[in-house]
Amino acid sequence: MNLKKNISILKLPHLKKTAGMNSVRISPPKEVLLPMNMHSGQAAVPIVAEGEHVRVGQLIAREEGRNSSPVHATVSGVVKAIEPFGPTVAIRIESDGKMEKDPGVVPPEVHDLDEFLQAVRDSGIVGLGGAAFPLWAKLDAVRRSPIKTVLINGAECEPFITSDNRTMIEHSDLIVKGVALLKKYLLSEEFIIGIERNKPDAIAEMNRVFADDPSVTVKPLKSVYPQGAKQVLLYNATGKVVGPGQRLASLGVIIINVTSLAKMAEFMETGMPLVDKCLTLEGSAVKEPKNLVVPIGTPVSHIVEQAGGLCCEPGKLIFGGPMMGHTRESMDSPIIKATNAVIIFSEKDSQPVKSTACIHCGRCVANCPLGLNPTAFARAMEIDDQEERYAVLDKENVMLCMECGSCSYVCPARRPLVDTNKDAKRFVKKTKAAKDAMEKKEGGN
Ligand code: SF4
Ligand code: SF4
Repeated sequence: MNLKKNISILKLPHLKKTAGMNSVRISPPKEVLLPMNMHSGQAAVPIVAEGEHVRVGQLIAREEGRNSSPVHATVSGVVKAIEPFGPTVAIRIESDGKMEKDPGVVPPEVHDLDEFLQAVRDSGIVGLGGAAFPLWAKLDAVRRSPIKTVLINGAECEPFITSDNRTMIEHSDLIVKGVALLKKYLLSEEFIIGIERNKPDAIAEMNRVFADDPSVTVKPLKSVYPQGAKQVLLYNATGKVVGPGQRLASLGVIIINVTSLAKMAEFMETGMPLVDKCLTLEGSAVKEPKNLVVPIGTPVSHIVEQAGGLCCEPGKLIFGGPMMGHTRESMDSPIIKATNAVIIFSEKDSQPVKSTACIHCGRCVANCPLGLNPTAFARAMEIDDQEERYAVLDKENVMLCMECGSCSYVCPARRPLVDTNKDAKRFVKKTKAAKDAMEKKEGGN
């Protein structure tokens, strides 16, 4: 990995015209659809039945395993269906429009680290910057080794998205409380809030609220992509590098998204688990781009309607930013826990690009923040012998690829490099799992 020589060098258009707009809470949708796999681990398991009445904040699906996360009702109403949703199921709740709070929603009793981690676990909060890794599991690293430094990620480096920016401006009190909680229970000593320089209001607000706290440093960062990526932020904010296979926590550092931190503090104060979130609605098909607070599970169509509609025929719908986001086929797709933006492009701006043969210009390699070689991944994926393909991809450190899309963005031949990288990572993961299972079996004989 060549991180020190080559880091976050892409200058993308910021397109953050919603940065100065206060977030607005939408009225509740007629129904929400809550998938059981809104986090990175194993799917949650429904504990409610069709026809059951639920209230906001009520537990409706329990976590299943360590990296799973519970799911809570985000509107009050009736469970209409538990239906197939991709590889899992989703709970559909018909709203009664009352948004009645569940009586069980009370601030958690927390006196020590165990109770603190359990409370965060119960809150259903996951990494809200997009990773969706359960927050409690990240904090749990403190049981293995001290977490001296907490790096708070307010970089928000993707074009269009400004929801973390709004969190820092509108909910700075919660960020202060979140820092106090981590000081108290994780015994962390140093807090660095990394924010791109294109968010001067957020930088000013963080400087204001932490003016008297010497443990907190507000670190303005260059507005370059992918400044918010784990490895890039770590290096630019602390000068540290996490090597292949190395855990970040082994350096005594964890990185927490700024909105995750604020939501955690809110839960400790109110007992309300993760049931809504602020997202940026943007894109060339959106009539009035805005920051909106929406119940999780709300269909995009309702959000668009609440925000003033579309100005033209939609062509492409993306959850997240244009670089790392995920396309969705239907305007009825529900918002999930980690959705920080909904971008809708016009048909005109959504025409598929035609890729041509690689001209070996090397721009993809030169622009990879981690110094990886996407052309080597692409070549490896053409090797028929699976053992050999695995060995080459492993040697080229494909699993380090953070799917930032910088290589695809700069490629003059418009090669779908990031898609190939994702395929290559899936292949390595699957092959490694098969190898491990085989070794385990042989070890048992
Ligand atoms: S997506 Fe491309 S640029 Fe980004 S880390 Fe992976 S190989 Fe590097
Ligand atoms: S940037 Fe595109 S054309 Fe240039 S070497 Fe990489 S894949 Fe080939």
